This record gives sequence, structure tokens and C-alpha cells, in this order.
Amino acid sequence: LQLTLAIIKPDAVAHPLILEALHQKILENNFIIVRRKDLIWRRSDSERFYVEHKGRFFYQRLVEFMSSGPMRAYILAREDAITHWRELMGPTKVYRARYTSPRTIRAQYGLTDTRNTTHGSDSSESAEREIAFFFPEFSVQ
Ligand code: ATP
Ligand code: MG
Repeated sequence: LQLTLAIIKPDAVAHPLILEALHQKILENNFIIVRRKDLIWRRSDSERFYVEHKGRFFYQRLVEFMSSGPMRAYILAREDAITHWRELMGPTKVYRARYTSPRTIRAQYGLTDTRNTTHGSDSSESAEREIAFFFPEFSVQ
């Protein structure tokens, strides 16, 4: 089994029905929920997590948004968990998602290119880093 780090971002956590729908989607897709945590980021957490995007035009609004309210992080396990979760999320840009893959999470629930509902690790290296970021106690063997 492969592990991935999934985040339900503040826009989706803000709406109880959307949060519940996304939780059900995880279960329906045969992910094992290994860990789950509700938390609020400080601005500095947000800046650290998204350091690879520093300097991009959307960085400030991304950092602002991700520290604007409660979010939920999961460690998910499944065969091909990384790819499978990213396929369920759909394209980063909500309007593209609505056009090209209307049944994906971002197409159905996303608000804008920044407030796009969910995050998923994009490689096994980033999954390892992101799991350690959210669940430092999990990574210690
Ligand atoms: P994530 O890393 O959140 O899973 P992703 O891998 O699909 O999303 P990235 O390119 O890593 O996309 O961008 C990280 C986040 O930055 C996006 O999820 C989105 O919230 C924001 N973002 C990316 N591109 C844009 C953009 N063009 N305009 C506004 N916000 C953007
Ligand atoms: Mg990414």
C-alpha cells in the first residue's frame, strides 16, 4: 500500500455538508484512513508548506487562504494512493476542472483557482515530506 497526504482546505471545511461529502468520498474509494487531524495553520506554517511556490503571483493569496480557517489533514493508504487521490481531485484550476472533468472534487466543490477544496501529495517524496509536516509523531520509527 502507498501513503499520501490529503488536505481538505478551509473553503471546504467551512461548509459541513461539503466536509461530510468529501469524507464519504474517501471511504467510498477504498482509502484506509491512517491518521486524521483538524487544525488551523499560522501564516508561518502556510509559508513553510508552500515554500516551493514562493515568488509565484498567487503565493500571497494562497498563503493567506490556507491560514484563514480550520482545515483537515489525512494520511490515506491505498494501492496507488497518490495518483488515485489526485485523479479524484481533478485539475488545479476549478474552471478547467469543470470543463474537462466535471465529476471531480474540484469541479464539483471548488470556488476559485486558489480556493480549490483539496490538496494531495504529487509524488512519494512530497508525500513523505508532507506526512512529516502534519504528523511528525507518525514519521518517527
Ligand atoms: P495542491 O498542491 O494544493 O494539491 P496542485 O498540486 O494541483 O495543488 P500546485 O501547482 O501545487 O497545484 O499549486 C498549489 C496550490 O496553489 C493550488 O492547489 C492552488 O490552491 C494554488 N494555485 C495554483 N495555481 C494557481 C493559480 N494559477 N491561481 C491561483 N491559485 C493557484
Ligand atoms: Mg501541489
